[in-house]
Amino acid sequence: MLRRCTKCKKAHYYPRALCPFCFGDCEWEAASGKGTVYSYSTMKRGEAPYSIAYVTLAEGPTMLTNIVDCDLDTIAIGQDVVVTFVQTEGGGPALPFFKPA
Ligand SMILES: [Zn+2]
Repeated sequence: MLRRCTKCKKAHYYPRALCPFCFGDCEWEAASGKGTVYSYSTMKRGEAPYSIAYVTLAEGPTMLTNIVDCDLDTIAIGQDVVVTFVQTEGGGPALPFFKPA
């Protein structure tokens, strides 16, 4: 889900009560789950390599996330990705990560 301003119509992330661009009122909308890799960094030290990335959503906002379910050496800037919700340790809500589209 994303917040979109009812006044200037821009979407933003993370969710805020008021629009960060014009302070207008916002409402929830279902996001497409599609995005592209804006930038990424792969950590190969330790037992479990992982990639963190900024993904620019189809709706406009850019979010910090992880790239999963792929060969981390194949990730590229501009690559199309799609959301996948990953359950984390500790029983909290699943987090929105991304995998190749
Ligand atoms: Zn606005």
